[in-house]
Amino acid sequence: MGEDHPNFRGDSRNQARLGRNGNRNAECADVFRALVECSPRALACYDLGYRQLYANPAARRTVLPASPTDGGEEGSPDSLVRELLRQVYESGQGRTGELTVALPEGPKRFRVSFVPELRDGRMVRVLAFGSDITEFVAARREAKEATLVASRTKSDFLARMSHEIRTPLNGIIGMAELALLFSRSPKVREYLTLMRTAGWRLSDIINDLLDLSKIEAGRVELQREPLSLRAELGSLLGPLRGLARERGLRLSCRVDPKVPDNLIGDAGRLRQILNNLIGNAIKFTPAGRVAIWIAARNVTENDAEIAFRVADTGIGISRCQFERIFESFAQVGTSAHAKYGGTGLGLPIARQLAELMGGRIEVRSELGAGSTFTFTATFDRVG
Ligand code: ADP
Repeated sequence: MGEDHPNFRGDSRNQARLGRNGNRNAECADVFRALVECSPRALACYDLGYRQLYANPAARRTVLPASPTDGGEEGSPDSLVRELLRQVYESGQGRTGELTVALPEGPKRFRVSFVPELRDGRMVRVLAFGSDITEFVAARREAKEATLVASRTKSDFLARMSHEIRTPLNGIIGMAELALLFSRSPKVREYLTLMRTAGWRLSDIINDLLDLSKIEAGRVELQREPLSLRAELGSLLGPLRGLARERGLRLSCRVDPKVPDNLIGDAGRLRQILNNLIGNAIKFTPAGRVAIWIAARNVTENDAEIAFRVADTGIGISRCQFERIFESFAQVGTSAHAKYGGTGLGLPIARQLAELMGGRIEVRSELGAGSTFTFTATFDRVG
C-alpha cells in the first residue's frame, strides 16, 4: 500500500483532497486500512507455511482461523482451511470451499476463497476472503424444498387421476375383448380390435405420465434383485423381433462375452429403457436394420459398468435436436418424424432412469442416416 493506488490517482476530487497536504499516500493507506478493517467480509492473509499474517475484525470474529496448523478435528473449520491452503500451496491456483462455523449467535455457513498473491510469477502470500452465505443457503434449501413439494403434489394428483382414468379404461378394454370372443362379423371384429389397441395405447400414455411425475418427485426407487442380462434380453427381444419382422427389418443382438451375468439391478426398469430405445429404433426405421450391442466397460469384483448400444438405419435426427429429444413432451418437429406419432415421454424417462442407474444416455445421429443411442448403467455384482 506504499504506492499510489490507481483508483486514487485518477480521481481529481480525491487528488485535491488527499494531495493537498503532500501525504496523499499515507492517507490512501489509511483509507484502505479503514475499508479492510470495517469490511463485513472476512479478509486475511497467510504466509506460505499456514501462518496468518493479518486478519480483519470480521475474519477474527468468524471464519478465518489464526493458525490452521494446530490441526483441528477432521471436518472442522481449521482443518478445512488448512486443506484449502495446502491445495493452493501445491497447485499455485486459487481454491474455494464452504464451511460451517459455530458462532455465539448460532452456526453460520461461510464461503471461503484463497487466492495466491504472486510477485514476478512466484507465490509470496495467500489472500483469504470469507462471506457469510447462511441466508443464501437457507433460501436455496427452501426453494429446493418448495420445488419438491410442488412436484410431489403434481405426482399425487396424477396418481389419483390416472387411477380414476384407468378404472373405466380397463372396463372398455375388457368389454372390447369380451365382445371379440362373441363377434363373428369381420367388420365388427376390426372395429373392436382397433378399440382395444387404442385402449392399450391410452393406458401406456397414462403409465408414462405417471412414471415421469414419480421420477421427477424423487419417488422412484430402483429394485435390487439378481439380474441375468442374457435371460432378460431373451424375453425382451421376443416381441420386438416380431415387430421388426412385420416391418421387414433385420434385428440383431450381440452381447460381449465379458459381460458378467451375476448382476444385481432393477430388471423391470432396465427393460423399460431398452424397450423404449429398441421400440423407437424400429418405429423410426422404414427399411434396413436395428443392431443391439452390449459391452462391458468397467468390471470389478464388486460392480460392472455396462454399455448398451442401439443403432438403426432409420430417418435420423439433426444435431440441433439432440438435446431436445430428452426433454419431456419434445418431439423432432420434422414432418418425417410427425407421421410416427408418440408422446415424447419415452426418452426423458429413459434418461432419468439411466441416471438413477449411475449412467447416462447419449445419441449420435444424422438426419436421413440412422441413429445410435448408447446408454450406460452400473450394476452391483452378486458376491
Ligand atoms: P415418442 O417416440 O413417444 O415420441 P420418445 O421420447 O421416445 O417419444 O422420443 C422422442 C422423439 O425423439 C421421437 O418422437 C423422435 O422424434 C425422436 N427419436 C427417438 N428415437 C429415434 C430414432 N431411433 N430415430 C429417429 N428419431 C428418434
